[in-house]
Amino acid sequence: MTISEQKVQMRLNDIKEKIQKAQLRFNKNNEDDKKVELVAVSKTHGVDEIEQAIKADQKVFGENRVQEAYEKWPELKEKYSDIKLHLIGPLQTNKVRDAVALFDVIETVDREKLARKLRAEMDIAKKELDLFVQVNIGQESQKAGIAPQEAVEFVKRCRNDYGLNIIGLMAIPPVNKAAGPYFAQLAQLAKEAQLENLSIGMSKDFEIAIYIGANYVRVGSAIFGKRISQ
Ligand SMILES: *Cc1c(COP(=O)(O)O)cnc(C)c1O
Repeated sequence: MTISEQKVQMRLNDIKEKIQKAQLRFNKNNEDDKKVELVAVSKTHGVDEIEQAIKADQKVFGENRVQEAYEKWPELKEKYSDIKLHLIGPLQTNKVRDAVALFDVIETVDREKLARKLRAEMDIAKKELDLFVQVNIGQESQKAGIAPQEAVEFVKRCRNDYGLNIIGLMAIPPVNKAAGPYFAQLAQLAKEAQLENLSIGMSKDFEIAIYIGANYVRVGSAIFGKRISQ
């Protein structure tokens, strides 16, 4: 094993341990025992690095761009059939067909036009993906996501009008503020929308997210190291 392989594996094990500990603390308070799924965010990292994580038994990965995912994942998914790939970045309607073909979960459903297009393309592909609605929880103009006050109603429309399998809410809180209150607000919206899954928490705040009830955490740089761009 090379040194860089060891590094990814060590970091992965470290994160998994922290997740387990955070989960124990969460469960003690809530007597709930949902399992936390680690989504390893491999954007900007190459096939070799990703394979190191796969060899360390990581099966769930996240990418934020459809095109970049196509440069890396068709080959990897062929080779390792039990991989689950999540789209965690904004999705343009002209890329929905490609996204439906490659991804297993799309976490960024945030507008009616996209919901409609997903319905149409999943029908054509005869493939039903699990989906999250992304909420712009900090109401930031530069961020994607449905406004918090419209989120519950939007989830209902996705289900009732388009028959989408919405399984949870996803959000990225503002960078320079404490994430906890935003996570808590998202958890409240999920409850109102009767959704069980929360995709919150990244390298810097996944433990806080788990205390608040996250069961999908999206961790990139703490596993693969610093990204040069994005
Ligand atoms: C990049 C990215 C992450 C991972 O961020 P890190 O800070 O590297 O852990 C999580 N979620 C989304 C939506 C991202 O774009």
